[in-house]
Amino acid sequence: MIITLENINAFFQEYPVKNIKCDHKILTDYEKIFGVFDGSFGYLSYLEFKSNDNSTIFLGSYPFNGSDLWKCKKCGKLKFFYTEAGGHFPKMIAIDVDFDKNYKSDPFVKLVSINKDKLSNFIEKFNFNELKNPENIQKFDGVKIIDKDIEYIFGYHEYGNTITFNIVADRDTLRKLFEFEKSD
Ligand SMILES: [Zn+2]
Repeated sequence: MIITLENINAFFQEYPVKNIKCDHKILTDYEKIFGVFDGSFGYLSYLEFKSNDNSTIFLGSYPFNGSDLWKCKKCGKLKFFYTEAGGHFPKMIAIDVDFDKNYKSDPFVKLVSINKDKLSNFIEKFNFNELKNPENIQKFDGVKIIDKDIEYIFGYHEYGNTITFNIVADRDTLRKLFEFEKSD
């Protein structure tokens, strides 16, 4: 089975080796089998979100959105790896796959950055009316609880003529937002 964002949950369900302990070496014994990062809508966002009952893992949330899935060549153990860039020395962090969770390929989070002059056009086009009252938008802090079917804006920020904010939405929508961002 070739792993995709859409079938990764099925891949985990069928995967024969689930909760085992692995003492093999990450650098030599593991190989990358899948990359979660979807560059089709721009850069990563570091916003973290989850479902209210913790039953779901959103691959579009930090840190999964920038992670890779690796497999131990000796025992089959699966782990997500991501590199934490903060500080002077990037640190590689491993997260075991939790086979009791439901992995979702949508929504993802995207950092949007546009010129102030384009804001009303943006609101009109994509219906994010909460941008009309940015003071009510939740700050970029802590883990956000989301409903998978709702679009969200977090962390509104103005600097000079540039406005930035994070949008949690399905990847098709994020690709359209990215096209808008790039247009003049
Ligand atoms: Zn192993």
